[in-house]
Amino acid sequence: MAEMSIHFSQTERDLAAGGVLTIDLAALRHNYSAISQRIAPTRAAAVVKADAYGLGASRVAPAFYEAGCRDFFVAHLGEAIALRPFLNPDATIYVLNGLQPGSEAACARENLLPVLNSLEQVENWARLAKAFDHKLPALLQIDTGMARLGLSAEELDRIVDEPSLLDGIDIKFIISHLASGDEPENPANAAQLAAMTSALARLPKLPVAFSNSGGCFLEKSYYFDLARPGVALYGVGPVLKDGSENPIRPVLTLSARVIQVRNVDKGAAIGYGGTFIASQPMRIATIAAGYADGWFRSLSNKGSAYFGDTRLPIVGRVSMDSITLDVTALPEGTLQLGSLVELIGPHQRLEDVARDCDTIPYEILTSLGNRYARVYIDSSSASQQS
Ligand SMILES: *Cc1c(COP(=O)(O)O)cnc(C)c1O
Repeated sequence: MAEMSIHFSQTERDLAAGGVLTIDLAALRHNYSAISQRIAPTRAAAVVKADAYGLGASRVAPAFYEAGCRDFFVAHLGEAIALRPFLNPDATIYVLNGLQPGSEAACARENLLPVLNSLEQVENWARLAKAFDHKLPALLQIDTGMARLGLSAEELDRIVDEPSLLDGIDIKFIISHLASGDEPENPANAAQLAAMTSALARLPKLPVAFSNSGGCFLEKSYYFDLARPGVALYGVGPVLKDGSENPIRPVLTLSARVIQVRNVDKGAAIGYGGTFIASQPMRIATIAAGYADGWFRSLSNKGSAYFGDTRLPIVGRVSMDSITLDVTALPEGTLQLGSLVELIGPHQRLEDVARDCDTIPYEILTSLGNRYARVYIDSSSASQQS
């Protein structure tokens, strides 16, 4: 827990938490470099919204900076303000969700670049530029078929007819976002690319930022000038059909501590609601992670943990702070108070956990919360830092 005072040793910190989340800064740098090389000469930004997908933006963003990244995307202005002190002044931070009316001056003062997602936001930004009597930088987003954020077709028409609407705005990139970039076969990708290309033909020639992680693994025509990978940087690689090797490395491991082991008789009810009844004498281990730690309740009687190569099925419901595991397969005494079991690691990848609870790795990552002891390692130098 990052906020614990410096009077605690790393060991004490680890033991005070229910589990240990280990984040490999070298793997983060590797993934950034791998994507950069793949899409070069297109530049790669890093999307570090939601506290760098739950992994800690104040540690993760500087790692990407070290690997050469100078463009950082967050969702909210508040996230951008919080991140600014952790990056050198030559790094640019962009606010994807745009600005609420009244927050433009704060954004400009902090040297942050908003994404302008509507005509109203364009007008508000232009008004501030006029008041300042100098140009203000921003990105302009066009909706190309996701209907989430960005100028509508009608708003684009207005800007094409009346280019003076953009007076005072120094547009650094025109951007759009793929709805199905992670599905290479989906025809929606080509449709969005075509919509983008025809919109760009109607606007002044400016740099373009288009692809998310998925787009970085489509053809070159999707790359343009700047790409915005997120999840791939955090270790979730693409499904490559062409047989080429996935260049993305896992970034995190997660383990949780055993807080109790017991033998139960046949017929014992386990956990809330008694949803699991022992069909034979069993050994049950309770571990200190639950749905408040991103271990979704939908994993009740479904997911698993590992100890070495042994799969330990979750039995009973996932509680807020704990999970019960069937550890009968392990010899008695193998698991003890304080033993660590693997939740995410070489035997059970983030993708496997997401599949087990019918969600996507993004949701697992951003739900991990801040109760685990976090250990940032740098596998290239094998030195541990807290
Ligand atoms: C979240 C987000 C990204 C990053 O998406 P990934 O799928 O994680 O690569 C890029 N662009 C926008 C606009 C986003 O909202």
